[in-house]
Parts: sequence; C-alpha cells; structure tokens
Amino acid sequence: MPASPENSTLIDQIDALLPQTQCGQCSFNGCRPYAEAIALGVADINQCPPGGEQGIRDLADLLGVAPKPLNIKFGQHKPASVAFIIEQDCIGCVKCIVACPVDAIVGAAKFMHTVISSECTGCELCLAPCPVDCIIMKPVDNNTERAQKSAQAKRRYEARCSRKEKQDAEKVERMQQKKQLLLKMQAGK
Ligand code: SF4
Ligand code: SF4
Ligand code: SF4
Repeated sequence: MPASPENSTLIDQIDALLPQTQCGQCSFNGCRPYAEAIALGVADINQCPPGGEQGIRDLADLLGVAPKPLNIKFGQHKPASVAFIIEQDCIGCVKCIVACPVDAIVGAAKFMHTVISSECTGCELCLAPCPVDCIIMKPVDNNTERAQKSAQAKRRYEARCSRKEKQDAEKVERMQQKKQLLLKMQAGK
C-alpha cells in the first residue's frame, strides 16, 4: 500500500502503542515495520510478546476490533529486564554492539564492553552473538533501580569530595614543606 497521510497517521498511532523494544519477536525487523504490517492488515495484533495482553488491548481499542490472547508462537510476555555484561569475561569482540538495535552498548575492539542500562530495552538481541556468554539479563524494578542509582550517585559524589579533600591537604603539606626548605636554605646562607 503506498504511504498516504491516512495510513501514515494510523501507522504512527499503532507504533506509539508498541513497546519499542525492537526485539523482532513479532517476526518484523522492529516495532515500526510491525506497525506498518498491522496497518496493512497483513499482521495480527497479538504478535508482540513485550507488549503483552495490555498492548493487545490497546491495539484492539485503536483499531476497533476484539482483543485476543497473545500468540505464543511469537514468544511469552516477560517482566522488563536490562542486559548486563560480566566485564571480566568480555573479550572485546564487538559482536554485541553490532547486534544492539538501540546503541546501548559502549566499548571498542579488544576492550571490555558495557551496557548503558538507561538505554537498554531488554530486547536480548545481544545475548546469542556473544561468544563467551558474558551477557546476562537482570530484571528491572523502576523504583528500586532509581533508588539504587541515586544512592550510587551519592556514594560516588561523597567519595569524590573525600578524594579531592585529601589531594588538597597533600598539596598544602607539600607547599609548606617546600617553603620550610627554602627558609632553611636562606637561613644557611
Ligand atoms: S515484538 Fe513488539 S517490541 Fe518486539 S519488535 Fe515487534 S513490536 Fe517491537
Ligand atoms: S544491550 Fe542487549 S538487551 Fe539491551 S537493547 Fe542492546 S541488544 Fe537489547
Ligand atoms: S559479544 Fe560478549 S565478548 Fe563480545 S564484546 Fe560483547 S560482551 Fe564482550
């Protein structure tokens, strides 16, 4: 079907209801292609496991059709999770970076890689390509994660202040020692 303002709007509306995990479980190469297929009538509304039953109900409401159970041929609905790289096991092969649809992994060839958890959709596409199985999924509890992040930020800030204080004190001490040495040298003239 050629893109018309009408079907573009419908695709946008459908896409807005999809979870944007970009996992491909629906058998399409991302959420937008699935939205296009639904709009064209070539895909059913129950093919998105991350969206689960709520997602299906939202799509059914939008399209004015009856909801139906998730088609488990496409996968099971699971709680939200994010990827985590066990860095000491990472060999820096870059395969996970290539697989990640949302650029949530940073690293360079032959160096360990890290997942930016705030960017990770939990799509799991990085798991299979990893030759050493050093990527695991961790469940996300938003409140806990937020609390953990702010607690971590506080700890890091305090550690930084304490390190800076120590460096300043060492600097003052070095300057005093230098001054005393200079005074002694002048007195010895
Ligand atoms: S299964 Fe759902 S979340 Fe995954 S790509 Fe398809 S529409 Fe997006
Ligand atoms: S880091 Fe892995 S799980 Fe997270 S978005 Fe990228 S490919 Fe998906
Ligand atoms: S695929 Fe695995 S080993 Fe390779 S860079 Fe990613 S985490 Fe490291």
